[in-house]
Amino acid sequence: TKSDLRSDHTYFTREMGVEIRERVRMMHALRAAFEAERLYIVYQPQVEIGSGKPFGVEALLRWKNDDGELIPPDQFIPIAEYSGLIVNIGEWVLRTACFELVRISELGFQQFRMAVNVSQAQFMHPLFLQMLKRALTDSGISPQNLELEITESMAMTDPELVIANLEKIKEMGVRISIDDFGTGFSSLSQLQKLKVNKLKIDRAFINDICIGTDEGSIAKMIIELSQSLQLEVIAEGVENQLQADTLRTFGCHHAQGFLFAKPKNKNDLYSWLEQHI
Ligand code: C2E
Ligand code: CA
Ligand code: CA
Ligand code: CA
Repeated sequence: TKSDLRSDHTYFTREMGVEIRERVRMMHALRAAFEAERLYIVYQPQVEIGSGKPFGVEALLRWKNDDGELIPPDQFIPIAEYSGLIVNIGEWVLRTACFELVRISELGFQQFRMAVNVSQAQFMHPLFLQMLKRALTDSGISPQNLELEITESMAMTDPELVIANLEKIKEMGVRISIDDFGTGFSSLSQLQKLKVNKLKIDRAFINDICIGTDEGSIAKMIIELSQSLQLEVIAEGVENQLQADTLRTFGCHHAQGFLFAKPKNKNDLYSWLEQHI
């Protein structure tokens, strides 16, 4: 009936109002935290599976709110994207990570890689390439030691722009990795056009990777795909030795995960690196 419809409608908008208010509140808090320099970055080592030796790190953003609680990036990154805050925050992450790489190389780690997540709104921004160039020149790092992690879904929204941008990034010498690979339904022909350097197998396929499982078959297929396209491959979310061993059997020799190291603040990273030199 008509009255049912109306009450449904009010219920719906009230719920939406709560959600929008909550998002707006979080957006203001995030902006304030960013301006007060209360966001920080942790670094998770990426290692050679056999030796456990690190060859790079991934920069991961952290936000501790006024109550000292950590808000997971999965919650605040979407808000940063949606509000456009990600453009400035992302630039800060990239620059900070580049300067951190300089520190790491001063510790004796040459040819070390820094992987930085780049979200869609940031990548599509008209000034992104300029910002990237500035981060490289200001820090003085070698472009081939920087790796941008983008997602498959990003490439699907505006393939032409993405391909054009990727080509320019490649000309600069910066590397590109496809994050969460296998979850985004990009076609193989698209993958070939993107000319990326690396596939990062999503954690979902690593969880139950042991031989014989569906997840295992998918991980194996991604590893074989990377071999035939001559791309590098890394597995994320490796938590136990069985997963690590299976990956090696499948031909994947690079991993990131709690088995090897959790994300660390920079001082903990320095001491961890010194023990793993
Ligand atoms: P991601 O890029 O897939 O990052 C990997 C996530 O897996 C990280 O979560 C990391 O802490 C977690 N992880 C690593 N090893 C293990 C493991 O062995 N087991 C389990 N269970 N988890 C593991 P985190 O730091 O919470 O980040 C979540 C997501 O937030 C990231 O997923 C990324 O999409 C996004 N993110 C983080 N920092 C940034 C940033 O600076 N910019 C952008 N655009 N996104 C970011
Ligand atoms: Ca990532
Ligand atoms: Ca990932
Ligand atoms: Ca993931």
